Amino acid sequence: MRNAEEKQERADRKGERPRFLVDGMLGSLARKLRIYGYDTLYLKSEDDQKLLEECTKQSRILLTSDKRLAEQSRKSSVSCIFVTGKNDLERLCQVFGKLGIKPRLNSADSRCPNCNGTLGVKPRHEVHDYVAQKSLERYDVFYFCAFCGKAYWEGSHWSKLESLDSHLRECLGN
Ligand SMILES: [Zn+2]
Repeated sequence: MRNAEEKQERADRKGERPRFLVDGMLGSLARKLRIYGYDTLYLKSEDDQKLLEECTKQSRILLTSDKRLAEQSRKSSVSCIFVTGKNDLERLCQVFGKLGIKPRLNSADSRCPNCNGTLGVKPRHEVHDYVAQKSLERYDVFYFCAFCGKAYWEGSHWSKLESLDSHLRECLGN
């Protein structure tokens, strides 16, 4: 844990956000971290050694719910958080809490939950091939991932995220 905290301190001094690598069991957590704007790699089928190597090479904090891998990461001096929460709320609260982060949910900062790509804003007339007519009529701002081609907007899923966010703030005492 100490490693992860030191890394966060250094990142804060440089004004950088921590970057994460999430193991195969925590895909839903990876998507949420991306939505919160954190650069998050999700490697589903890599072996443990490969995960540790990538963390070292790319200065990423490993998030895993595999106790053995967490122990291995300590031996390899890889920053790691052993994630024990039962759901995304508990997991996010644990990760942000340990790193002393006060997360802000802001769609303009989000990364693509599907592929971790950065999102750009597109006007309505440029996304009409990708977005259903009903959503085009109802929303003004659309985000587009240049890597995987997915379009996003603050639809019904966004209110669920806002509810998760308010529970998260309670959990973090923000
Ligand atoms: Zn994408």
